[in-house]
Amino acid sequence: MIYDSVVIGGGVMGSAIALRLSQAGQRVLVLEKAVPGAEASSAAGGILGAQIEGEADGPLFRLCLASREAYGALAAELRESTGIDVGYRHCGLLKVALAGDDLGPLAEKMAWQRRIGLEVEELAGEEVRRLEPDLASEVAMGLHFPKETQIDPRQLVQALPLAAQRAGATFRAALVRKVLVEDGRAVGVELDGETVRAGAVVVAAGAWTSLVEGIGLPHDAVKPVRGQMLKLALRGLGLRRIVFTPRGYLVPRGDGTVLTGSTMEHVGFDKRVTAGGVASILTNALATAPSLAGAELVESWSGLRPAPADGLPLIGATAAQGLFLASGHYRNGILLMPETARLVAETVLSGREPEALLPFSPRRFAH
Ligand SMILES: Cc1cc2nc3c(=O)[nH]c(=O)nc-3n(C[C@H](O)[C@H](O)[C@H](O)COP(=O)(O)OP(=O)(O)OC[C@H]3O[C@@H](n4cnc5c(N)ncnc54)[C@H](O)[C@@H]3O)c2cc1C
Repeated sequence: MIYDSVVIGGGVMGSAIALRLSQAGQRVLVLEKAVPGAEASSAAGGILGAQIEGEADGPLFRLCLASREAYGALAAELRESTGIDVGYRHCGLLKVALAGDDLGPLAEKMAWQRRIGLEVEELAGEEVRRLEPDLASEVAMGLHFPKETQIDPRQLVQALPLAAQRAGATFRAALVRKVLVEDGRAVGVELDGETVRAGAVVVAAGAWTSLVEGIGLPHDAVKPVRGQMLKLALRGLGLRRIVFTPRGYLVPRGDGTVLTGSTMEHVGFDKRVTAGGVASILTNALATAPSLAGAELVESWSGLRPAPADGLPLIGATAAQGLFLASGHYRNGILLMPETARLVAETVLSGREPEALLPFSPRRFAH
């Protein structure tokens, strides 16, 4: 069978793109070397933190905001088509500084975001604790971002492939060795001992993107950055908002469990959870919310973020016709998925790249 599109990678990016292309009537094949969603996508905290992650106003920040706004409709769509609740919650987010932390970055973030009309509230230490009594008395001040939200990535990675399959996409376990390009046009992919032909190829291979042969990227265009995570459980924990400190974060799930992370480690494709990683995460978690000292350590894991060499994701058409990328979303791939999928599908289907994608063009790496 010749497919309209082959998607390499069944993480949130590949699955969501397959969903959109299938809904448009394409015959789509997703090739996933492991299990759909098993890599970075299910390791994530699920923070939809457009404002907390934004460093300055610009195309990436605008894409993050638009994607955060798109989540409500996507969550409803996924519940409708699959029956799965992806845990979309308007919980809000606090960025707090503890005694001794530099308050400068908080003031700066508040200033530029307020200038462009976004909601950010400045709170004194006691006001922060009035909102979240579990937080330490050392919290000196905080910023409250009421519009920041969360989802549950493990539910999301169940729902997206299922929704894509119900829309007609096929998922298959296979490692793609190479994208086949003939006369400047992608014509399919090579597996071990097999060729799959397709009208278009979309590479959504996360931290492994630069390893896929034939896509014309330098080997360091997208690199893995390990993040370790812990899940804690404490009966009676009242924490409701996501809490960021300069050293990590807490993501309360609303059921007495809290995810806490994460490390940022350049250790190649090594996914081990280490004693040092766990120690640093717990030190921050307990300094932020001391009652967590009595929590049960339920689970630990790590994942590999796809980190782009220049800080911007690689989204859109490549120099080869019919070859597209959706990769390098680094710390914010869950957040950026809805808009990435919509814009990539639009590019594949129309052959024209929306203007919103030009700053993220993978062609900037062409050699
Ligand atoms: C600890 C941690 C916490 C995070 N927290 C958040 C958060 O709170 N909010 C947020 O927005 N983002 C977060 N992120 C980032 C987010 O998880 C990623 O940006 C996002 O999941 C990337 O999705 P993806 O589909 O591109 O990659 P992946 O989920 O890694 O999917 C890529 C898939 O491609 C497959 N693949 C690779 N090569 C091949 C090949 N040659 N052939 C076949 N298949 C292949 C892989 O097996 C994998 O399943 C976090 C990441 C980590 C690690």
